[in-house]
Amino acid sequence: MMGMNGYRFVPRVDAPGDGAGDVYWFLFQNDRLVVLTSDAEQVTVPCLADPAGMGLSPVRRQYLGYLENGTGAPVHCYSAECDPALSLGEGMAAEGLRQLYTRLDDTFFSIAGRAVQIVEWDRNHQFCGRCATPTEAMPNERTRRCPQCGLSSYPRISPATICAVTRHTEDGERILLARNHRFPAGRYSVLAGFVEAGESLEECVAREIDEEVGIQVKNIRYFGSQPWPFPNSLMIGFTAEYDHGDIVLEDAEIADAQWFSADNLPQLPPPMSIARRLIDDFVTRQV
Ligand SMILES: [Zn+2]
Repeated sequence: MMGMNGYRFVPRVDAPGDGAGDVYWFLFQNDRLVVLTSDAEQVTVPCLADPAGMGLSPVRRQYLGYLENGTGAPVHCYSAECDPALSLGEGMAAEGLRQLYTRLDDTFFSIAGRAVQIVEWDRNHQFCGRCATPTEAMPNERTRRCPQCGLSSYPRISPATICAVTRHTEDGERILLARNHRFPAGRYSVLAGFVEAGESLEECVAREIDEEVGIQVKNIRYFGSQPWPFPNSLMIGFTAEYDHGDIVLEDAEIADAQWFSADNLPQLPPPMSIARRLIDDFVTRQV
């Protein structure tokens, strides 16, 4: 991945030996990233040889890969889990990733999304889920393996589909947007749901839209994807066209759903989300 500042991140598992010099530390207290806040607008990730130098001694650490920017030696990146009870020194803060979007450089934000999931996976797989034996990290792959029964545990990713459904009407194109009960007041978005075991992505799209609003769709097409580390999803975006059916809300989950025109949209999700990219794409196609 390439950020605006020309950095390129190369993910790796095999850590460099000692003496790697200053490295970037993606330190977490639970799911909050420790950042340097000397500049209120743009926060940064600490770069030093050992986080003990900041008064932070990680419980566990994981090698992530390295960053290169075309000049100079690559800089290695580590994630680490810190005691959430530790108080941070002056000029440091622990913040949720959602709050860091646009305040942390794009490349670093993306690495942080990877890091938080690896920290969480490492914390949750110290013992075998089958026989409770302490697991061991494998040297050349992102795996923890049980020496007793051989069960391997990888970072878990939960795929979810998200779909913009559009419809031709006599008055022009409409997009189907719905309000989940959990959304902030007034916000609408496209429909999304987790993929079930044994289901194709297209089947998931059709099932979710049918379950949540009673609409049948056709021409389901891939749009794009986005890692969504809240806590470990991969959002897979689709577009689809209305086929038949009237809106019937699944009341337990959906507060409202309507067909909106591009010039009369409700409050939308933030720009960082693929949901917003899907809606923006619909709007762009209307002009
Ligand atoms: Zn085991």
